[in-house]
Amino acid sequence: MKEIFASEFKKEVLRSENVILDFYSTECPPCEALASKFEDLSRLYGNEIKFIKIFRQQNRDLADKLAVKSSPTLLYYKNGKEVAGRLTGGIKRSDIIRNLDRMLPVEKVAEIKSRIKPSVSEYDVIILGAGPGGLTAGLYLCQAKVKTVLIDISLPGGHVSTTHEVSNYPGFIEPQAGYMLSHSMSEQTKLCGSVYKVAVDITKVDLDKREVIIDEYETVRAKKIVIATGTTPNLTGAPGEKELKGKGISYCATCDGKYMDGKEVIVIGGGNSAVEESEFLTRFASKLTIIHQFDKFTANKQAQERALNNPKIAVIFDTEPREFIKDGDKIITVIENVKTKERQKLISDGVFIFIGMKPNIELFRNDLELDKWGYIKTDEDMRTSLSGIYAVGDVISKKYRQITTAVADGTIAAMAIAKELN
Ligand SMILES: Cc1cc2nc3c(=O)[nH]c(=O)nc-3n(C[C@H](O)[C@H](O)[C@H](O)COP(=O)(O)OP(=O)(O)OC[C@H]3O[C@@H](n4cnc5c(N)ncnc54)[C@H](O)[C@@H]3O)c2cc1C
Repeated sequence: MKEIFASEFKKEVLRSENVILDFYSTECPPCEALASKFEDLSRLYGNEIKFIKIFRQQNRDLADKLAVKSSPTLLYYKNGKEVAGRLTGGIKRSDIIRNLDRMLPVEKVAEIKSRIKPSVSEYDVIILGAGPGGLTAGLYLCQAKVKTVLIDISLPGGHVSTTHEVSNYPGFIEPQAGYMLSHSMSEQTKLCGSVYKVAVDITKVDLDKREVIIDEYETVRAKKIVIATGTTPNLTGAPGEKELKGKGISYCATCDGKYMDGKEVIVIGGGNSAVEESEFLTRFASKLTIIHQFDKFTANKQAQERALNNPKIAVIFDTEPREFIKDGDKIITVIENVKTKERQKLISDGVFIFIGMKPNIELFRNDLELDKWGYIKTDEDMRTSLSGIYAVGDVISKKYRQITTAVADGTIAAMAIAKELN
């Protein structure tokens, strides 16, 4: 592995056969997360492919010339030509490898793969998921001198890192940008000394053995596991939804309702959350239209009646969204009547989607006792039905899912674990 300056780019990159080039920056958590993977892979592929790093802040002109807009950015070169797709953000080992393998003959790739040595590491506690729940558990465990590793399929921060602003987390007078709040939480836990393995692929979780295999070759074992994997909102799947998430489309009324003061809002859904959250949103919105796929709500009777009698709420039944389009400050929602197939466009200032959340439990759904919605059941110390396995945050069976409640669960689990390990 080699570090170069822009002046060496021609010689080291363009005149070499196979190169992977990492534009990195300092004070860049995804760059830190990438650094150890890059170094590790350079040992594996280093004889066939040149691993080169370049400090973006000091080589801005070259970065601009190559249209490198964020750190880290990985570029692949073969005989002076850029090949494969660029990788940015929370880069996974498997994504880097996929591109590296494309640059080499099949038999060479097989030979390199045969040299991968499985590794095993031991900790007191594995925390799966580095959102507010996992990070808080990590902080308390670390401060109690418990050897802890946090493992996340993405970068640390969980939902908070993609939340526009957080105004209900105590301790801050002004609303905090979600990414800053999650960054502070993550740095606090990291500075204490917790180990992070982030932007990894989880190959297998064996709760009985208390063992997690990541990136296919690395086994991490511990005396206890804390599951803090959170939830994923169900998506409508309509075009435009993913692109407009956080830019006009929201999945949280408590978080984003306040930005809808005097504005027109569309809510998608018809269950309890959709109807109750709609009622909450009318505190802010001047007009709210609920779009529901069936001919009546599935929410409880009282909530339905309140919504139907609310003068600010209009309801369009038998209708599904087909597309979301950004139009300046507005969102155009294309809806279709599921019976007549007739389409129309609704213009609003914001769209809220409440068609359910799903707990992230795919890797261990058969091992743990769950409630009827698939959330993990815990006792008051956050213990699950399996000995040595705890769960915290949004993934557990509970009534209210907020940052403060996830943080509280993390605290409780960590204190209970620290006591048990003592
Ligand atoms: C858009 C939005 C805005 C919100 N705004 C607010 C707000 O303003 N105020 C508030 O109090 N609450 C808000 N919430 C709710 C709040 O974000 C959650 O309650 C909180 O983040 C839950 O924390 P958590 O740690 O349980 O889970 P999450 O924040 O969901 O974090 C879970 C972590 O686990 C990781 N993970 C998932 N699967 C795996 C796996 N198999 N292995 C390893 N890691 C995994 C994820 O990558 C993620 O980093 C908002 C929620 C959303 C969706």
